[in-house]
Order: sequence, then structure tokens, then C-alpha cells
Amino acid sequence: MGGNSGFGEVLKALERGSADAEGLAADLAAHPELGFREERTAALLEKALRDTGARVRTGIARTGIRADLGPPDAPGIFLIADLDAILTSGAAGGVAHSCGHHAQMAVMLAVFRALAEAGVPEREKARLVFLGTPAEEFLEMEYRLSLRAEGKVRFLSGKQEMIRLGVLDDATVALKYHSMSDSPERVATVNGTLNGFLAKRATFLGRSAHAGAWPEKGINALNAASLALLAIHAQRETFRDDDHIRVHPVMKTGGTTVNTVPDTAVLETYVRGASWPAIRDADAKVDRALAAGAVALGASVRIDNSPGYMPFRPDPALGEVLGAAARTVLAEKDIDFRDRSFASDDIGDVAALVPTCQLGYAGFSGTIHASDFRVSDPVRAFREPARILAAAAFELARDGAAKARELRRGFKPEFTKEEYLRSLEELFASRTLSWAVDGER
Ligand SMILES: [Zn+2]
Repeated sequence: MGGNSGFGEVLKALERGSADAEGLAADLAAHPELGFREERTAALLEKALRDTGARVRTGIARTGIRADLGPPDAPGIFLIADLDAILTSGAAGGVAHSCGHHAQMAVMLAVFRALAEAGVPEREKARLVFLGTPAEEFLEMEYRLSLRAEGKVRFLSGKQEMIRLGVLDDATVALKYHSMSDSPERVATVNGTLNGFLAKRATFLGRSAHAGAWPEKGINALNAASLALLAIHAQRETFRDDDHIRVHPVMKTGGTTVNTVPDTAVLETYVRGASWPAIRDADAKVDRALAAGAVALGASVRIDNSPGYMPFRPDPALGEVLGAAARTVLAEKDIDFRDRSFASDDIGDVAALVPTCQLGYAGFSGTIHASDFRVSDPVRAFREPARILAAAAFELARDGAAKARELRRGFKPEFTKEEYLRSLEELFASRTLSWAVDGER
């Protein structure tokens, strides 16, 4: 692959840009921003992207950014990078790039710049698109639901919004990079899959009363929620290994004062799984468990669902291109082609509509989503993945993006865009189940 005419220029450009890329990553890491608030991050990227001569659009899905190079009607090779940081306990200010999105942005930008400097889009008649996507981490739900209520977004993640806004309508293929913790077994993953999920909030409503004098006049919402948690745990033996179900509730509220029977308790959870039938099956069991807690105490429970992300299924044919590129840098034994992660990412939503593949790459120590997650080896974290992704993008772009067009022809999307948007909208659902014994609700 490296022998193809023109790729040598790309490699030289990558080499020239590598100090810049690491500097940008350090700057981004020092100024992490949460989802739909990545203003400074987007401004930094905008400046670098404008310097390449690309056609740049900003403010997409609030803070998202897109840059295009090459003939406007040529097939589009999308390089996708997440803009947002994550709430991280123990980090300064409680926010950090503990998911490595700073490295993701730096690597994807380095690839875009190197292909631009080598003149690849114009010469090969392929369109190269850098897409900076907001709000991948699914958090600050109250803020995001308020944006939805105000009509500022319709969906709660950046890629979902961008799909709705038509930003991916002209994507022929999409590539992504994600950092990983170092491990003795592998350096890279290609064709890794991810779980999808549904997000769920359950509000138990009872009745307050003096906890010492008249507890019999109260309805204890904390006890209802506690029983619901046990009932959820009792479902676990029914979850099939192949479905990769993860149900991991937290209690957000369980009463305010010890002297009063709690009248409100709130549980939140995701229901994750490898497929929608599996997620729906587990979700029905979780709802039954929530209801059981309310029934036992004569309380009521309001269940609010929000769509999380689609299970991520990479395109295997695109995985072959990415795998071939990875073999130019790594030995076969260092590349894991079978990774099945139980985490989730809205790249799953993109992959349901566009042939997509992700390169996972080590070069980080500590634990992802924890405050100790940091670059352990800059060559691994930045230079090697940039080289691999540049080689893959180059291969896809050659000869009028012949390979990208071929992959697109062989791809069967899971949904049409309209079906996707409808199914996402349907996942926003609320209902209240009431078993109050006193006729008050
Ligand atoms: Zn991430």
C-alpha cells in the first residue's frame, strides 16, 4: 500500500505534522469540554481546518464542525472524531478527556492535513471530509433533555443530530479511531463491535410521613426502589451470554431526611445489549421489576425512556481495508479482529446507515473513563494510528474513490434514514404505573 504513488508524500506530511498534532492534543486535554458545549475545542479545530483550504461549516448540531476537500460531487470519505470530554471523578474540575477524544481529534486532523498537503483529494477525485461530532458521551441528561424541550436539538447525541440534519447523507464510507488502554494481548483492534442501549429513569412516588410517629401513614418510595433493584438483579440469570446484556442502575435520590418516610426515589439505568431484540427483551424484564417494587409498597412509578445508541456493527469489507493498513505498521498477532466491547458509542448509529469501521489503538495507561487515563506512548497514541488511518483513507480515495464506491455498493444499511429517525423518536417514551392503595393516585 505504501508503494502506491503519492503515499510517500502523505507519509512525509504526517511526519512534518506530528509535533503539531501532539501539541493540539495536549491543548485539548488541558481544556476539556462536555457535550454540546465544545466551543473552544471546535474553534481550535476550525482554525487548523481552514488552514488546509477546506470548505468549513461550524455550529452543526450546536458545536459540530465539518470540513470538505476535493470535488463537491465526488464520493465522500468521512474521518469522524468526537469533540467532547467526560465527567471524571478525581479530575481537575471534574471533567477530563478520559476517553481519549483529544487523541482522536489530533489523529484524525493529522490524517486530514497530510492527505490535503499531498494533494490527494484533488488528484484522486475523492472528497475527504473531517467531521467533528459533539456529545458522544451520554451524560448531563437534564441539560440535554432541556435542549430537546427547547427545540435546540431533537436527539441527545451529536452523531444522531448530524444524521437528522443530513450531514451524513453524502457519506460513502466512514472511518473512526478510538484510544484504548495498553494490554499485553494486543496493540490494535479492527472490526470491534459495541453494545447498543436504551436509557431509563424510574421515579418512585410514595407519601411522606413522620418516620417514627406515623410511618404507617406513609408510602416508602425508597423501599419500593430497593425492591425494584433486587427484582432487576433476579433477572440476571435469564440474560444470555451472547446478548451481552448490561443493566447497571444507580440510585439518584432515595429520600431527604432520615426523620421522614421518603416520598420520592429515583433510579437511572441503561439497558445495554448486542442487538435490539435482546435489549427490548431485557428492557421488558427491567420494567416488570420496577413495577414489582411499586406494587409491593402501593406506590407508583413513572418510567421515562430515552434512546441510547445503536449496537455498533462495523462493515467487514471496510475492515479488510483498515486491517491491511494496520498490517503495514503492526505484526498480525498485535491486531485483534474479534473484539466485542460491551460499551456503546453513537458511531453505531452511523454504521447502521453508512459502511463504517473503527481502529482501536493502545498507547494509554490507566483505565478508560477514569482520571488515571493518559498517554503512555506518543508513538502509539498518535503516530501509528495516524499512519494506519492515512493508509486506509488513501486506499479508499485512489482512482476516483473506486474502493469506497465498491464498498458502498456492497453495503446493506440496517435502516433508511427515515426509518432510523422514526425508530429513535419512538424510543422516547414515558408511562406511569400506579398501585396506590388509598385512592389518592
Ligand atoms: Zn469515547
